[in-house]
Amino acid sequence: MARENILVVEDEEEIQELVRYNLEKEGYGVVCVESGEEALRLAVQESPNLILLDLMLPGIDGLEVCRRLKRDAATGAIRIVMLTAKGEEADIVTGLEMGADDYITKPFSPRVLIARIRAVLRRMPGSTEEDEATAIRIHNLVIHPGRHEVLVDGQPVELTATEFRVLHVLVRRPGWVFTRYQIAGAVHGGDNVVTDRSVDVQIVGLRKRLGSAGRYIETVRSVGYRFKE
Ligand code: CA
Repeated sequence: MARENILVVEDEEEIQELVRYNLEKEGYGVVCVESGEEALRLAVQESPNLILLDLMLPGIDGLEVCRRLKRDAATGAIRIVMLTAKGEEADIVTGLEMGADDYITKPFSPRVLIARIRAVLRRMPGSTEEDEATAIRIHNLVIHPGRHEVLVDGQPVELTATEFRVLHVLVRRPGWVFTRYQIAGAVHGGDNVVTDRSVDVQIVGLRKRLGSAGRYIETVRSVGYRFKE
C-alpha cells in the first residue's frame, strides 16, 4: 500500500517538529508549512491524504484555509484535522460545519495525535452511506436502521422517530464529534423541525430511554455530542 501523506500547517516550530517526528515514525509522508498561503498552494501541488491544520496562523487563518480547501473541487475531498487551542470552541464548531473531519486541542499527546489521524484516514469516502439492512453493533447496543429498532442488552427500547435519527447520526461515526447544527441538519426532514436547542432536549430524552447505554452519548462541552467509541 502506498504510504499516506500528511500536510502539516503549523507556525510554531516546536509543535511542527513534534508532529513531524511522530508522524514519520508511524510511516506517514510529511510535508510541513507555516502559513495558510503555503498550505493552499501545497494542498493542490501535493494532494495530501490529510491536512493537519493549525487554526491560529499568521496571514490567512486556519478557518479561512479550511473554507477555501472545501470550496475547491481539487481539494474538497482532502481530510482536515484542525489543531486548536483551548477556548477556540466557536472556531471548532465553525470548522466542523465547514467540513473539517476532526480537531485536536493543544497540548496533545503523540498517542492522541496518531489515534485521531488513523481514525480519520481509516474512514473511506462514502462509508457514511449506511446499509439499511446491516445492524450497527456497538457496546451493548444493536441498531437496525431499516427497521428503526434499537436493542440495549438484547431488550428493545422505544424511541421516537426523531430520537432514533439523532442516535443513528451519532452511532454511524463513533468517536466523532457532531455539532448541534450538524445533528439538527441530519435529522431534518421528519414531521418536527429540529433546532439546535431542541437537539439538547432530544439528547436528554435519548439518554434516559437508553438506560445503561445512555452514558455512551457524551457531551463535548461548547462543541456538541459524540457517541463513545
Ligand atoms: Ca499557531
